[in-house]
Amino acid sequence: MTRTPLIAGNWKMVLDHQQGTLLVQKLDWTLKDAKHDHAAVEVAVLPPFTSLRTVQTLIEGDKLPIALGAQDVSAHESGAHTGEVSAAMLTKLGVRYVAVGHSERRQDHGEDDALVRAKTAKALEHGLVPIVCVGEPLEVRRAGEHVGHTVGQVTAALEGLQAAQVAGLVLAYEPVWAIGTGEVATPEDAQEVCEALRAAVAGQFDAETAAAVRVLYGGSVKPANIASIMAQPDVDGALVGGASTDAGDFAAIVRYREHPS
Ligand code: PEP
Repeated sequence: MTRTPLIAGNWKMVLDHQQGTLLVQKLDWTLKDAKHDHAAVEVAVLPPFTSLRTVQTLIEGDKLPIALGAQDVSAHESGAHTGEVSAAMLTKLGVRYVAVGHSERRQDHGEDDALVRAKTAKALEHGLVPIVCVGEPLEVRRAGEHVGHTVGQVTAALEGLQAAQVAGLVLAYEPVWAIGTGEVATPEDAQEVCEALRAAVAGQFDAETAAAVRVLYGGSVKPANIASIMAQPDVDGALVGGASTDAGDFAAIVRYREHPS
């Protein structure tokens, strides 16, 4: 089973639509040379909602090999949900990926496993590819319970889905203590949990589904550490926060295959 690696940039609440346009243009120029094989690594950017239309216009107008993603989606279909953005609205904007259950949403907005499950199901219903984010806080890691914790989050998020739906989605292991802290998990830490998440999918669904699902690592990924993380057999890509708002750094992460090992 070959899984195309995915490098997705979560801009968070950084970069307005003009800065975002500039970044995508720079990223495209930096990736445009004979050494970079666009087919070998899928690239996605997840701008804030206010930039989606502008970035979509650029990507579609110039036919850039970059996928568009969103950082969140409503669990509701439509209606009286002030401030929320529906899956149908995202689909209409050409959005392909949507992050659900990011630890900042869980922490700052009280999102629980039930809501993450509902958002995942709603995204799939509308043809979006959810990037289901899980990860343990520092105290859970210190207690040695990180595998059980993250497996529990994944199992809850995927409950009630069909195997074919799960095969096409993306999981992201993002230890909370590594997000935005500069403290990256070791490649072995990343592999341990990504492997466990894949095994959990095999148990909940089947081996074929587990072999197809892509599992990303996220947490202080930088040009200097991406190659060793991507060398792990169960790591299929990265969800990149801070470094994705710098075109040069993000392009260098995307080009991890050219780094000396
Ligand atoms: C993230 O927000 O998903 C993330 C991984 O952030 P950072 O790369 O800045 O740690």
